[in-house]
Amino acid sequence: MKTIAILGSTGSIGTQTLEVVRANGDIRVAALSAGKNIVLLEKQIREFRPRLACVWEEADAKTLRTRVRDLPVKIVSGMDGLNEVAVCEEAEILVTAIVGMIGIVPTIEAIKAGKDIALANKETLVTAGHLIMPLAAQHGVKILPVDSEHSAIFQCLNGENGQKPYKILLTASGGPFRGYSREDLKKVRVEDALKHPNWTMGRKITIDSASMVNKGLEVMEARWLFDVPLEQIQVVVQPQSIIHSMVQYADGAVIAQLGTPDMKLPIQYALYYPERRYLAGERLDFAKIGSITFENPDMDVFSGLKYAFEAARTGGSMPTVFNAANERAVSKFLHGQIGFADIYEIIRYCMDHQRAIPSPDVAQILETEKYVYEMIEGRW
Ligand code: NDP
Repeated sequence: MKTIAILGSTGSIGTQTLEVVRANGDIRVAALSAGKNIVLLEKQIREFRPRLACVWEEADAKTLRTRVRDLPVKIVSGMDGLNEVAVCEEAEILVTAIVGMIGIVPTIEAIKAGKDIALANKETLVTAGHLIMPLAAQHGVKILPVDSEHSAIFQCLNGENGQKPYKILLTASGGPFRGYSREDLKKVRVEDALKHPNWTMGRKITIDSASMVNKGLEVMEARWLFDVPLEQIQVVVQPQSIIHSMVQYADGAVIAQLGTPDMKLPIQYALYYPERRYLAGERLDFAKIGSITFENPDMDVFSGLKYAFEAARTGGSMPTVFNAANERAVSKFLHGQIGFADIYEIIRYCMDHQRAIPSPDVAQILETEKYVYEMIEGRW
């Protein structure tokens, strides 16, 4: 029986991870963590019986302690609490399903404690990939991708005896605004941006998918996960979301992973790797699908993708600037304070007004994040 801990158990990835656990019945959950949703966390504690659970605010932790006082579970809070969940002794795998750069420190702590990481929190690799990947190698732990595209690439690399890919073909649906002009993007409303054509995800990543910033973050994530230069990563728009990504080898052969858009597949694959388990759900019916189409992304309209390549090329702390600027801009968009197209403007402004620190350490990454937030606060 495997034992896991989850950071962000109340979110989209977190709840689907628990669905996988429920369906298989042979994974033990040692620790859970949430931000604010203590109602759902209490339900999860009652069903999965972890011995440790964490919420962000101590006031919420106090309330939760009272509610679950009939159970043998320790309730902790804040960053220390997240770190306690991350290094929880019984767990072999930490699922990082938390959103944002808050995931960096607990992920590092878990690696140091020898836990394999089922990684959904892409911000960790985007901003600290240069620290995380060597640390994981040093401690002999696996970084198992949960992001569907990266899981697809990981699956395409299996059975190739460690041969390096010649090219990674990262697929993108293009989101709900594919084909829009820059002018069209200016008129987009929050409710339009929250409607992804194929995937159901958390609010932040849904907006990132609509702006294609998500694809930019995924390019940076892929570069660290698979150790390939940026020039060998190509984004291909495939609107039906059937091909989850592809790998091209030196001889020109392309291996792809296909499936219905269901995050439980990559989650389950990461939890049981290298075993493939049965997963209930719809199967692809190629006759029904009829055709799969491809196009290049429009980086002039979806300029966030272009800026992501630029930030990745600059390196150092620039991906942190890109990520933090986007994170704050998306939050402002969701709160109705800025328009959709302003997300790109904010990223551009921050990238133009920050010099990249080469090879930043964790403190410098977190300082950069704070500095970018302050820079935006005064202006938008
Ligand atoms: P959600 O917004 O649905 O969930 C985020 C989780 O993080 C929630 O459990 C939330 O708790 C928790 N959280 C937020 N802030 C804090 C905090 N300060 N302390 C502790 N916990 C906190 O996000 P998703 O599940 O969509 O995404 C999670 C990560 O996975 C992101 O990095 C995303 O990019 C990545 N990802 C997501 C995919 C998807 O399909 N959703 C696909 C691929 C990658 P609460 O709700 O209780 O406040």
